[in-house]
Amino acid sequence: MRALLVNPWVYDFKAFDFWNKPLGLLIVASILKKLRIKVSLLDCMDRNSPYYKVHTKTGPFGRGKYPFEIVEKPSIYKTVPRLYKRYGMPRDLFSNILKNSDYPDIIFVTSTMTYWYPGVFEVIRILKDVFPKTKIILGGIYTNLCSEHAQQHSGADIVFRGTAEENLPRLLAELGYIQATEIEPEHPLPDFSLYDKLNYGIVLTSRGCPFDCTYCATKILCPQFQQFSNKHIIEQLGYFADRTENIAFFDDALLYSKNFPQLLNEITERKLRLNFHTSNGLHCRFLDHNIAGQMHRANFKTMYLSLETINPSLQKQTGGKVDTPEFMQAVKILRDVGFSPDDIHTYILYGMPGQNHEEIIDSIKLCHDLAVHPHLCEFSPIPHTEEFQKTGFDENTDPLYHNNLFYTWYYPTRKTELYKRIKKLLTTGRI
Ligand code: SF4
Repeated sequence: MRALLVNPWVYDFKAFDFWNKPLGLLIVASILKKLRIKVSLLDCMDRNSPYYKVHTKTGPFGRGKYPFEIVEKPSIYKTVPRLYKRYGMPRDLFSNILKNSDYPDIIFVTSTMTYWYPGVFEVIRILKDVFPKTKIILGGIYTNLCSEHAQQHSGADIVFRGTAEENLPRLLAELGYIQATEIEPEHPLPDFSLYDKLNYGIVLTSRGCPFDCTYCATKILCPQFQQFSNKHIIEQLGYFADRTENIAFFDDALLYSKNFPQLLNEITERKLRLNFHTSNGLHCRFLDHNIAGQMHRANFKTMYLSLETINPSLQKQTGGKVDTPEFMQAVKILRDVGFSPDDIHTYILYGMPGQNHEEIIDSIKLCHDLAVHPHLCEFSPIPHTEEFQKTGFDENTDPLYHNNLFYTWYYPTRKTELYKRIKKLLTTGRI
């Protein structure tokens, strides 16, 4: 039996390979391989695709720009004065690869941001055209947050919610591809061997988060905090050490994980020649000199801290994961143990309903005063969150309205002057 796994294109105004890999789809690959099913992967967002004649440039930590093609804007975005693009593999190349592939018995397609659904729908349309007899199963973040929309419009034969581990064996048994007794309950590791070349590896030591911020989907996607065993993570790091130099930790609550200090010890003892990065913001409250020192010794190179805003009432109102003194203390701790200003970054939330512009400007200024790199994190209305209710949107709203750039800068009116001011402050430190 043969399965084809597809990671679709991203349709957006901007996209960057910020240590992105379709982890859920790679877990599907692991499960299928254990069931002795042959797996091939077509990742439209793989910048190292062996099918490319020219590859986009990669920075020292493995990140880089995606190739893209400019496409027509959906009518909702007609007034946005920015180019709308299909990021990833050229469409003709994608179709040609499929036409020259073996006929699959089953196809899995993943999905991420809700407003990227045009890429999901387009790969499904092409897959149906080339392989009309094969069942297509669609999962991922978009199907969890906009299940009805995906059921009604995606064109997939089966749309599932929940994780691959929870659903896949059951689905395969129902479709008659395996016996229910073949199902293994353990947590599988994502299978990175499907990539010819890796600019970076991604590691997940835990899933979920103890907080419940009003704008975040984590509690919806993963209600319980789960930790994975260090044994498997060390095994995976050993594998990555032979293939790449950079590893991004993808946890939502890395410092909350009780196994993390021991993992850092093992990394240091084994002298793994890897650069480590955190791509999601760390909880400042859980950062002390011990853990920060361990991270520095283990060779962490990029440290993102969660701040979002310095407005104390907004900090409390949105979930209380951090306050400004905790953030300032975390920056001090990182500097004390040897991290340089270039290593320290933070996210500043912009455009949440009711958020005051001056407070955003003050948050950026504080970062500059502390010599921390601020990065604007434009608010996206995520279905089922508390903040989503305040936007006036509902489950019938087209998910294109969830686009963070569109929602924050152009909906319902353009905020061009403010955009210029904030961008200038971010890039020059002046306003
Ligand atoms: S702390 Fe971060 S991951 Fe956790 S709920 Fe808040 S925003 Fe989400």
